[in-house]
Amino acid sequence: MSSNQPPLSAKLDGLQSSAIRDLLKLTSRAEIISLAGGLPDAALMPRERIAEAAEHALGDAAVLQYTESPGWAPLRAVLVERESRQLGRAVALDEVFVTHGSQQALSLLAEVLLDPGALVVVEDPAYVGALQVFRAAGARIVAVPLDAEGMRVDVLRTMLAGGERPAVVHTVSNFHNPGGVTMSPRRRAELAELADAHGFWVIEDDPYGELWFDSPAPAPVATYSRNVIRLSSASKIIAPTLRVGWMIAPDGVCRAVELLKQGADLCGSALTQQITAELLADDSWFPAHLDTVRATYRTRAEALVRAVRTTFGDRLTCTDASGGMFVWASFTDGTDTAALLPHALEQGVAYVPGAAFAVDTAYPHSMRMCFTTSDAQTLEQAVERLARAHAAGQRANSAHSIQS
Ligand code: PMP
Repeated sequence: MSSNQPPLSAKLDGLQSSAIRDLLKLTSRAEIISLAGGLPDAALMPRERIAEAAEHALGDAAVLQYTESPGWAPLRAVLVERESRQLGRAVALDEVFVTHGSQQALSLLAEVLLDPGALVVVEDPAYVGALQVFRAAGARIVAVPLDAEGMRVDVLRTMLAGGERPAVVHTVSNFHNPGGVTMSPRRRAELAELADAHGFWVIEDDPYGELWFDSPAPAPVATYSRNVIRLSSASKIIAPTLRVGWMIAPDGVCRAVELLKQGADLCGSALTQQITAELLADDSWFPAHLDTVRATYRTRAEALVRAVRTTFGDRLTCTDASGGMFVWASFTDGTDTAALLPHALEQGVAYVPGAAFAVDTAYPHSMRMCFTTSDAQTLEQAVERLARAHAAGQRANSAHSIQS
């Protein structure tokens, strides 16, 4: 493994906010079954355990104080242990940086790694929150498509051979949002090899890796190269309100992020970081909690995929959900998912049309469906509603073509 470490950006001041909140507007009407939001299930968030840990933390007045910008040291120590296990090497404390959710890590990294006009390679379809950050940073964005094995690293290789020089390649390596797929071990090794050979950063954005159903996700891309900055988060495994994410990156990157974090918010919350540390380190509770979340999401994912396949047959292809929170489904009969959405809302079901995640490809026939917040029966009902909407859409289309 060579270490051809890429340079940092000269532009380290100025921050922009980013969000994927627009998607949540669709979920607001009570009668709608929403597969749109992309939220973890609040009913599975451990309120009592959080309250208990909060009470422990509040026993010491220091928890109300400002904390260190890279994060509350005992949480970082817990993360060192966790990530050393994940990465199969001794991760140093200086490589661990706690952020206000992994979204803040993306935002700060864009400042640290990108000069205006720098090339960022993303996956197509892409995580909207990352696109927003990279666009706000003035990056030139080029997309590489996904297939069942994740990012098409061969397409990236061709781009590199053609002379493109990315500063950053962003990947959601596990249980992709929105694509539902996981990058294969072979592609991970290839991506890392390219990062070393060409001297670019890989941001491995991994909030879903722990939410596997049948077998654990493959070893992180970060196990193959030190040019990989790995992001994880407590949002999907404990609760988003903690706003605890973390980054594993070379010391130099962490120190640059630290400079910017001081300007952004001085530091995170010692209270939620202490709560997170206690929960993550509780071996008699955390693994069982995670098992419950996995098993619940697995049942829901299976119900949704089964209902889609029995209801639509080969008119709607759908990824196998092997973890995470999403499936990506594509109509093969020409149905336009943006045009279908008003019919779907009328029938009481919401999803996000593929166009919302599009970079270079339009994805007019695709959609993202989130299976986490409804039980199996409700998901089956959602698919029935979708079928009624699909039929209504087809009737409307044929009426339109008779008239015109
Ligand atoms: N990365 C990806 C791929 C995501 O899907 C999300 C949340 N939807 C985030 C990062 C940000 O999560 P958080 O800031 O809550 O850790």
